[in-house]
Amino acid sequence: MKLTDISVIRDVMTRHGFSFSKALGQNFLINPSVCPRMAEACHPGLPDGSFAVLEIGPGVGVLTRELSRVAAKVISVELDQRLLPVLEETLADCDNVTIVPGDILKLDVAALLAKHAADLPVVVCANLPYYITSPILMGLLESRLPLHCITVLVQKEAAQRLCAAPGTRECGAVTLAVQYYAGAEILFQVSRGSFMPAPKVDSSVIRLPLRGEPPCEVNNEALLFRLIRAAFGQRRKTLSNSLVSAGFDKATLLTALEVAGLSPTARAEELTLEQFAVLAAALDT
Ligand code: SAM
Repeated sequence: MKLTDISVIRDVMTRHGFSFSKALGQNFLINPSVCPRMAEACHPGLPDGSFAVLEIGPGVGVLTRELSRVAAKVISVELDQRLLPVLEETLADCDNVTIVPGDILKLDVAALLAKHAADLPVVVCANLPYYITSPILMGLLESRLPLHCITVLVQKEAAQRLCAAPGTRECGAVTLAVQYYAGAEILFQVSRGSFMPAPKVDSSVIRLPLRGEPPCEVNNEALLFRLIRAAFGQRRKTLSNSLVSAGFDKATLLTALEVAGLSPTARAEELTLEQFAVLAAALDT
């Protein structure tokens, strides 16, 4: 069954009375080269058949089928109950796939992986519903699940923010949060015409290999992330002005900035994660 063929998708949708839901971010991949490339790229350093994949949102199963070829197991979470009978048909010959009905933001993913992935290393690979890209990625990163790597298709602008270099206009709080937990690279671009229905913007596939340890020493993670969010909350202001308006005491802050060797007039996007960590340490004394 060629699930990138529009007439095949239309046929299976009609037979199951399925119609696209914009609210659930349903843009299905129809470009035949994208899913094999994602399946190939999602398991760096792990040989075929030696790992499990967590997929979010299988849709009609186009990426799921490719993942099933390279992984020992595929655990795929789908919120839209209407797709369950469709997937039963399209994945009938994929014995190593388990479809889990539910909302990825509400499921106990640790329990899910313990049940279905046993002792296998786990990677995430998905064409994400764009309306919850950040909550899904941050949820996975902050969960401290023993994930090896996350490879996802996201909107191009989100990819640029998630993988931005320090000091660039695209760099934001989410960029530094990702850097804390993982590496980040844009693998390849995917045009809007690669989807049915076509969205209004292009997309990119990004890969986030998870770190064993954070890239800098941090004693108080909550303070570090409060600081980063506050600094980027009003990114046009200087660092000291944004932090003071977010509730940090001015005198304490100015002393901490001096100890950290940072200028009070710097702007959030000029600081690296390491510099935010040094500032957090200076404020935590
Ligand atoms: N993987 C398919 C593809 O590439 O053609 C479909 C990707 S589509 C962009 C996103 C999928 O995520 C849809 O199947 C949608 O129903 C599902 N979805 C949306 N919100 C979800 C959630 N909170 N939890 C799990 N799946 C969700």
